[in-house]
Amino acid sequence: MPHMPVPLKSSEPVQDEASDVRSTLKHVNQPTALEIFAAFYPLATGYLLAYAALDWISSADLSFPLRVSFWNPLAGLDLVLLIYGGWRYFPLVLLAPLLADLAFGRVSFVWDMEVGQMLVSGLASSVGVFILQRSVTRFDPKLQSMRDIGMLLLAGSIASLLYASGNVAMALGKGLLKTEEAFLAFRMFGVGQFSGMISLTPLLLMRLMGESHLLDNKRRLALGIAIGSIVLALTLVRGQDIYVWFFLLAIPVAWMAILAGVEGACLGLLAVQIGVVLHIGTQHALIGQVSILQARLLVLCLTALAIGVLMSERRKFEQQVRQHQEALFRLGRIGSMGEVAAAIAHEINQPLMAAGTYMRLVETSLASATVDRNEAAQITRKAVEQIDRAAEVIRNIRGLTKLDRSGRLEHRLSALVENALKICRIGLEERQISCRVVLAPDLPPVYVIGIQIEQVLVNLIQNAADAVTPGRGTIVISAIPLGRDKVEVSVSDNGTGFPEPLLDGESLLFWTTKIDGNGIGLSLCRTIVEAHEGKFQLKNVASGAIVHFTLPVAGPFSHD
Ligand code: ADP
Repeated sequence: MPHMPVPLKSSEPVQDEASDVRSTLKHVNQPTALEIFAAFYPLATGYLLAYAALDWISSADLSFPLRVSFWNPLAGLDLVLLIYGGWRYFPLVLLAPLLADLAFGRVSFVWDMEVGQMLVSGLASSVGVFILQRSVTRFDPKLQSMRDIGMLLLAGSIASLLYASGNVAMALGKGLLKTEEAFLAFRMFGVGQFSGMISLTPLLLMRLMGESHLLDNKRRLALGIAIGSIVLALTLVRGQDIYVWFFLLAIPVAWMAILAGVEGACLGLLAVQIGVVLHIGTQHALIGQVSILQARLLVLCLTALAIGVLMSERRKFEQQVRQHQEALFRLGRIGSMGEVAAAIAHEINQPLMAAGTYMRLVETSLASATVDRNEAAQITRKAVEQIDRAAEVIRNIRGLTKLDRSGRLEHRLSALVENALKICRIGLEERQISCRVVLAPDLPPVYVIGIQIEQVLVNLIQNAADAVTPGRGTIVISAIPLGRDKVEVSVSDNGTGFPEPLLDGESLLFWTTKIDGNGIGLSLCRTIVEAHEGKFQLKNVASGAIVHFTLPVAGPFSHD
């Protein structure tokens, strides 16, 4: 042990201090064999620890007649290790039963039985993996389709048959089993292993392959409640006949399968299986009852897994539909982009042509013998004006396409309306247009980019102001809650009403009736509202025009 200078505390004996340091050093410098193994072989360590734990749990019921374990998930664990880690872990699969028996001091020193067990379980698991790795099965360990689950069940049932046959053959050979008990033991071995495997293997594979969605969504609480009800049900039937009350456990498992698909089903099944094994481990069960319970558990496994698979498939289908809808929407946008591009080309082409004409006039003027400098400067100014106009069109279009979608915050609509009115106030007062704001008292805050919504309101107020008769115009800005997650804002006026083509759903872009208009305002409003997942509608009423648009309400899950 290296000597370390340590400051001494006068109140404590030197001897104690030194031994403290030594024990600390020992702790720091000498990691245990398990720590070293875990650092270099995390998968192997995880496997061995899980193997030992599951072996201990599944052996809790070995007081059964025939000494057949009621539930055996160990082959399922072997399958996961070989599928995920590869064949180089095969020696570990062979050794694990022996290591677990040594760890629990269970080795009976009937070595031929011990070796036989190793070979039978090793063979059963490797045949299962071998089947899954054939290209014809097209098995994907991420378990993304019903087919993958089906293949796993097929390989698992073959492995279970092999396991059961091997064990029964050994027991018969050793005289541990009477011939008339052979079929019952075979069935119990097989069913116990199959039920253990089909609940454990999918759960672990999905977790290891990064396909687990159990812990990363809002269903966590519901799953926790379901597990809690399984534990509660098991506690309630403690000391009673679990064979009768078994159906109580089926309800939360089915619920978990509905909630979280295959993963939910497997988690629920594991909880039930572990609970039942620990429960009946304390009872002196009759073989007939155990066998019936095993059959019920198997039925529950297959039913829950079927529900889980259907739910997972449904979720995947919904996701695909959503993706297709988005793709269609994008296609639609590309289609309308063609029209927009034509309109933009037209808008920019006009001022550029005009600027070209002016510049040619300047060229002619400069080439002539008598150059009128004033006239040339005037024409050049006109050309510059046209170029500026083209630049403004481009700037406005940028505003349309480059909407910043990040930075949404919770806003009170009253504040946004107030800010917009501040900008428009002078114009409205000059034209003696009155403006009323009617906001519902129970209006929830909205989740928006404040400045963009202010821009929408300013555009609509200015348009309304242009449409009404000065001195007699009235603009009303109102808002009401729409369902639980939207707010509907309306801007109405008593003006001329919208021209028909705008109401017919024609593109709003560049559509203007104003001499100095550019026809971009309404388009910009629509783009902003739709970027906030809202709807934008133009209507005419008897008294004038009205624009409705919706905005998202701020809620606990508001995020970008
Ligand atoms: P601009 O105001 O530059 O013309 P907009 O896109 O904002 O561009 O408006 C397009 C056209 O829609 C306007 O030219 C006008 O004819 C019509 N419009 C907009 N708002 C109203 C309204 N409140 N009442 C009647 N017509 C309107």
